[in-house]
Amino acid sequence: MNYIEIANKIFFIPGEKDGRYPASNSLFIDDEIKVLIDTGMGPKLAAELAKEKKIDLVLISHGHEDHIACNYFFEAAKICCHKLDAPAIRSVEKLTELYGLPPGTELEKSIDLYLRDFFGLKDSRVDLEFGNGYVFDLGSIKLNVVHTPGHSAGHCCFSVPSERLIFLADIDLSTFGPWYGCMDSDVDQFITSIENIKGLDFEVAISSHKPITYGRETINEKLDVYLNKIFEREKKLIDFLSEGRTIQEIVPQAFIYKKFPEPKGIYEHFEKIMIEKHLERLVRKNLVTRTNGSFKSLR
Ligand SMILES: [Zn+2]
Repeated sequence: MNYIEIANKIFFIPGEKDGRYPASNSLFIDDEIKVLIDTGMGPKLAAELAKEKKIDLVLISHGHEDHIACNYFFEAAKICCHKLDAPAIRSVEKLTELYGLPPGTELEKSIDLYLRDFFGLKDSRVDLEFGNGYVFDLGSIKLNVVHTPGHSAGHCCFSVPSERLIFLADIDLSTFGPWYGCMDSDVDQFITSIENIKGLDFEVAISSHKPITYGRETINEKLDVYLNKIFEREKKLIDFLSEGRTIQEIVPQAFIYKKFPEPKGIYEHFEKIMIEKHLERLVRKNLVTRTNGSFKSLR
């Protein structure tokens, strides 16, 4: 088992394939109370960890499959998450609903099968629901919950102020940029959450899917690049809407995915959800008008 000590009693556990989806990175805190943040490292690693360490608390950053898939390995631990993401963690059916696929379609069936068969995702216990500012006193370390909605309604980061360290979860600093393709995702909240994180003072940032970032300036630069992806997407969209366009015309432009991976139908669906969220935001800001099914920029 590869425990990488990054601060006193705090260990980074890289997920399978360097934490790339469908896996994710975890953090292990070896204090009087032993904590694991997220269980998406992959079943082999999770089984090893459960054998080697007596985990008291499993903290879940949010209710997506790649962060909760191995909850069931930690039977003796209390499973904790933000109250808004608890329903999706307790029920695979609820998580499927959040993906917003048209009910009764092949796509909906395929995502349910994917979650249950490929991920082996099961309904999970949730023993404690927390909110923003909740503090876990682990003995010598205090761990704070920072509610950062946008990616999901209950998405949270976890900070250890004494070590100037933060677990950013799916504010993941990837080159893809922010992902807001679920029904409970929100672009405005995502922007505010990134800005809030930038206002805090950290020297070490752990992303769920990328290597560790060190240094306040570097962390803030990466957060800026990441945040700007949202505005770059929006600019392309506004330019394309110089003539009136329908959703059906916008989605194939793949402003967000650039190229749809397989299975294409699913990623086109995510593109559509994300574009719709941008359009709602632009209409609200009076930058775009909607007439019947057609969107046009007002410039
Ligand atoms: Zn996620």
